[in-house]
Amino acid sequence: MLQRLKDNFHLSMITLVGVITGCTLLPYALYRLATGSYLVGIVDLLMIAVSTTSVRMAWRTGETEKPGFLMATIFCFGAVLVCMELGQDALFWIYPLMVFIFFLVAPIKALLLLLLMVSAIVSIHFAGQSSIFNTKVQLLAFITTTLITCIFAYIFAYRTHLQRQELRHLASTDPLTGAATRYSLADELTAAIEHYQQKNMVSGLMLLDLDHFKAINDNFGHQSGDLILTQLVPLLKQMIRQQDSVFRYGGEEFVLLIKDIQLADLHRLAEKVRHAVWHQLSRPDGSALTTSIGIATVQQATDWESWLHQADVALYKAKHQGRNQVVIAAEDIPKAKQS
Ligand code: GH3
Ligand code: MG
Ligand code: MG
Repeated sequence: MLQRLKDNFHLSMITLVGVITGCTLLPYALYRLATGSYLVGIVDLLMIAVSTTSVRMAWRTGETEKPGFLMATIFCFGAVLVCMELGQDALFWIYPLMVFIFFLVAPIKALLLLLLMVSAIVSIHFAGQSSIFNTKVQLLAFITTTLITCIFAYIFAYRTHLQRQELRHLASTDPLTGAATRYSLADELTAAIEHYQQKNMVSGLMLLDLDHFKAINDNFGHQSGDLILTQLVPLLKQMIRQQDSVFRYGGEEFVLLIKDIQLADLHRLAEKVRHAVWHQLSRPDGSALTTSIGIATVQQATDWESWLHQADVALYKAKHQGRNQVVIAAEDIPKAKQS
């Protein structure tokens, strides 16, 4: 549970806002109901109920966008009703609420929701439905301070959003080759296993390791080795479909995740990859560069580690048998014999 909170910032914020809402609003709701302010008491209880449901939904499904939006909308709606009922006493709550909203939804959505909320409060005052502000100066101060808070909170949230995106990109993309890093490998393989278990969609893994790569570094320098790696990844990407992915697993070891493919086709594709490396890439002196490949389908995998392990054992066998070849994982061999 702590790990999920640490890994998922949005989930932890939704949970925090949910807990704070419950702790701070519940005593108020009970007080309002006890003193006869039924509308405010009911609105407070409604906000508590919606935030509790949203937090539970986010924890259950792992999806945080909709629960966050639901909470933000009901909070803004509730704030307008409470301001109508309580007048200026409720205005102090608008400011922490504004900050909460930026933690619940994307910056632009938060800004729009809050501008709508402020406009609604001001319009209700002007329409004479409720006298929220005692003087014009108070009204003007409310509009100015909420707008300033909105603008600065938006700038802060937007910059944080951009920095988080940049960090995610840096963590998930290998700077040398542009391939995906190991960072997202576990999630992608786990998703493919779930697709197989739920929809029977078979995916395949190729674990590819260049042969005698160390000798290239030793004989021609590290930069020559780097150049080959930068040529290899576009070649691999060219041979797979949009939905498939290339991960840099280690130094000159790559994982290809091929979605929706049966063993025979996976084997054919692996052979094509092996030939492409052999015939389209070369060492700096023009001599052949080869690769060994281990392949495994998702069918015998219990988790992502066992799946990768099957491909790794097959790769080891390919190296052991003389390199420049594709070996099917032992777990898939009965299937290979049937087809
Ligand atoms: P094998 O056929 O058994 O795979 O032989 P190998 O020499 O390729 O052995 P191994 O896979 O163990 O060696 C990997 C080498 O890759 C070791 C290291 O010098 C080199 N390497 C790892 N990362 C990089 C990198 O980013 N750039 C370069 N140029 N070389 C790297
Ligand atoms: Mg190697
Ligand atoms: Mg290696």
